[in-house]
Amino acid sequence: MSDPHELKVLNPATEEVVATVPAATAEDVDAAVVAAARAQTRWAALPPADRARLLRRFADTVDGHLEELARLEVREAGHTVGNARWEAGNARDLLLYAAGGAERLLGKQIPVPGGWDITFEEPLGVVGVIAPWNFPMPIAAWGSFPALAAGNAVVLKPAETTPLTALRLAELALEADLPQDLFQVLPGHGHTAGRALVDHPGVAKIVFTGSTRTGREVMERCARLVKPVTLELGGKSPNVVFADADLKAALDPFSFLDNSGQDCCARTRVLVQETVFEEARAFLADALAAVVVGDPADEKTQMGPLISAQQLDRVRSYVPEDAPALRGRAPDGPGFWFPPTVLTGERPDSAAAREEIFGPVAVLLPFTDEQDAIRLANDTPYGLSGSVWTRDIGRALRVSQAVRAGNLSVNSHSSVRYWTPFGGFKQSGLGRELGPDALTAFTETKNVFISTEGTAQ
Ligand code: NAD
Repeated sequence: MSDPHELKVLNPATEEVVATVPAATAEDVDAAVVAAARAQTRWAALPPADRARLLRRFADTVDGHLEELARLEVREAGHTVGNARWEAGNARDLLLYAAGGAERLLGKQIPVPGGWDITFEEPLGVVGVIAPWNFPMPIAAWGSFPALAAGNAVVLKPAETTPLTALRLAELALEADLPQDLFQVLPGHGHTAGRALVDHPGVAKIVFTGSTRTGREVMERCARLVKPVTLELGGKSPNVVFADADLKAALDPFSFLDNSGQDCCARTRVLVQETVFEEARAFLADALAAVVVGDPADEKTQMGPLISAQQLDRVRSYVPEDAPALRGRAPDGPGFWFPPTVLTGERPDSAAAREEIFGPVAVLLPFTDEQDAIRLANDTPYGLSGSVWTRDIGRALRVSQAVRAGNLSVNSHSSVRYWTPFGGFKQSGLGRELGPDALTAFTETKNVFISTEGTAQ
């Protein structure tokens, strides 16, 4: 039974305790929101160029601590050190990008009769950000930094298992002279601190990233206060591979193994045209056998552990010992290890083929033609991401238009760049983060009409 007053952070590769941090109560959340509201008023009154300068200084400070942040992410989340360096760099780069947004948060001037009409993009106030454990640092950054740049204060609740990098980012913000209480990190449990943030009348918006189940509850609670919400939820993304594709690139196993498959964009439904299905199966068998799974702090490691014993149990429940599958290797002993796996005997409507497993497990399914591929690709409640592989540009465009997902790649498995919009269709979420419009998710548009028809002197 976990202690409700503290969070024990385990190294998922060793099960050793990395740190113990106090868990915030509802009273702590209330105090944080009240202090954040005071800080926000002063922050919003600063000239945009001054806000931008402070955020750039924050980016420089993060840059000076990249390796430290990356090593912390390795210890608390089990990410490979290469991935963790990318994540710390992503937080820095987004700060720089968002800082420029503070200077370019433009209104409009709209032609109207009898006067002038202008719009203003005004900050919301205090924004609550609730983050999951799978990419603790980038997701904390995506919710928080554009909100700060738009003139808001942020109270961030990281996941129970991974509070450390977020706490360090808040310290670095103070080191960079961001105002006290403007960016606060409150580690805590979802059902206490998370709910308190969602329910707090002083929080003007919630940005939630996590499971679809919790996201639904967050949205219901926000609805009671008519509080806007951005939801970044689960995924079960397709990788649609036509027979004419570059099979080796298309079947890169890291399209579903990156971050041990704990990636909302993981291409975990590998849909392969039936004429090359056997070739694909043979390729994947070799590819899985070659994956280096082990100590995430080792530069040569390609895949680390799962986050927790609970997540390991969940992943195992989808992969019975006797399930037909291609399997790689994973270490024995302490740590939450699961081998790279591709299930080969699933039906398209099985639980493993439709539900988000959130581990290094994909399903391999055949399709006949383009229409069949589109039907299968869309046959889940999710719509976050996906890839389409073909050398036929017309088909690539048709399939990209037909697949209902927010982030697609053609002849590529990339999906996230801080300067392009990111978010899901269907039950993968609501709203968009990142990209050129990121700041407007954190503003209210105010329209002001000024009459020019005053009394002539
Ligand atoms: P989760 O829903 O269990 O928890 C997410 C966060 O919500 C945690 O901080 C948790 O403490 C908090 N929380 C839990 N119950 C709450 C409640 N009742 N009220 C308020 N907050 C509450 O998700 P998880 O297991 O941490 O993360 C994995 C999930 O996140 C996966 O489904 C994954 O696909 C999703 N995810 C989505 C994106 C995206 O951008 N779409 C990105 C990363 C992860």
